[in-house]
Amino acid sequence: MDQTFLERLKADYSDFKFREGKKFAFRPPKTIILAPGEPFSELLTLHEVSHAILKHKDFRMDVERLKMENSAWEKAKELAKKYEIEVDEDLIQDELDTYRDWLHQKSRCPVCGLTRFQTPDSLYHCPRCEEFAK
Ligand SMILES: [Zn+2]
Ligand SMILES: [Zn+2]
Repeated sequence: MDQTFLERLKADYSDFKFREGKKFAFRPPKTIILAPGEPFSELLTLHEVSHAILKHKDFRMDVERLKMENSAWEKAKELAKKYEIEVDEDLIQDELDTYRDWLHQKSRCPVCGLTRFQTPDSLYHCPRCEEFAK
């Protein structure tokens, strides 16, 4: 991790809390967990900072989560220009793919394999199996 970059970022976002941890994460509302040893740590830091800037919260709807990841990466790219950090598109797509795969797996019905839908109470429902269950 480039220390000059990190100092500049901390000064610009002095109301955010920066902590070290095992992996990069954002804890709403304002805590950024940094894993400085990881590759692309500057870009990943900008991504987590973006979640905080965009005021992302905990999410009950998984589709919302994917949208938030997308928007946090868009914001991170903007910030990367400002802080002169190199943007690695492959990394971004890989990160987004893990969420897409996760969403796909979670939404798949374990009984029949059909794509289920999620209601605001965060539960998944299978249109086929639930119909039979009635
Ligand atoms: Zn994220
Ligand atoms: Zn089903």
